[in-house]
Amino acid sequence: MDQTVCFFTVANTRNSSSKETIRRRNREKRYPLLSFHELPDYMKDNDYILNYYRANWPLKVALRSLFQCHNETLNIWTHLLGFLVFVGLTVGNLADVPQVVDFITMFSGQLPSSAEGNVSSKLSLGPVKPIDLQQKSSLEGDINSRETSTPNWPFYVFLCGSMFCLLSSSMCHLFCCHSRRLNEYLLQLDYVGITIMIITSFFPPIYYIFQCTPHWQFVYLTGITIIGTCTVITLLSPALMSGKFRSFRALLFVSMGLFGLIPAVHALVANWNDPYRNITLAYESAMALSYLIGTLFYVSRVPERWKPGWFDLVGQSHQVFHVFVVMGALAHYGAAQIFLRCRTQIGCNN
Ligand SMILES: [Zn+2]
Repeated sequence: MDQTVCFFTVANTRNSSSKETIRRRNREKRYPLLSFHELPDYMKDNDYILNYYRANWPLKVALRSLFQCHNETLNIWTHLLGFLVFVGLTVGNLADVPQVVDFITMFSGQLPSSAEGNVSSKLSLGPVKPIDLQQKSSLEGDINSRETSTPNWPFYVFLCGSMFCLLSSSMCHLFCCHSRRLNEYLLQLDYVGITIMIITSFFPPIYYIFQCTPHWQFVYLTGITIIGTCTVITLLSPALMSGKFRSFRALLFVSMGLFGLIPAVHALVANWNDPYRNITLAYESAMALSYLIGTLFYVSRVPERWKPGWFDLVGQSHQVFHVFVVMGALAHYGAAQIFLRCRTQIGCNN
């Protein structure tokens, strides 16, 4: 009896697995991966990527392609994993679980939250001046009262902006193969996501550095919000959606980033004696360098331009750009944590 049941179970399993194989083969026949010249015009963007394209796939099939190998797989996963890391950081901070935050920050090569007492002993990112512990202990009595007066929201604004950007980007790469209309809509969402990430990145440094001079806080935060809004309006105009404006779009993002030089130089002059100066500068320089290198890959389309077809699946410029965006965001996260702690500890006494 048992043998009979076992036989039927094995037979059924084989039957269902062979059915699944047939279904998969049929699907592959109906939705084959295409070469560049077989693509509809709206999808012809990078002629150095020659094969493994998806085009006009139903949403369900596109969703399943998350686990298939095509020329967008790594573009989707680089930002999806980045999104999950930021979800972990947000949940860890919200739940006030330092171990979770420490684990992820250490994994990303950054400053563990428990090491705030002596940043220079954990990292060798230049001649960091150790925090004056005497000064710190004399201030510690006030920390609790200041913790309530130093809001966390600018830090979470940045985390939300980063999560929105990374998720919208990976969704854009996953579903852009569905139809022309959705492709255009998702591209717009992707650009809006990048703009929101840049705007929200300004919130922690500007808010905490200029917390004791609220008029500068207002000027800079209003300034970047206006610039960001104008950028979104410009990017959403249908005339700028085509591939030939790629460099112009990159220029818009870089200009937004360069606006940050004004408050950065101002903050550096105003807070020259800040004990956290060098470590935050190191983080912010790492962020700026990551975004800059990423943008250079995005615009130049290196390395696929050198060997068309060689980097269709792995190593194409867009994947490298994505990795640098995530690294830049993580560096900025490290800096934002220091800005928040620094203001919480020092208050407006310096
Ligand atoms: Zn992308």
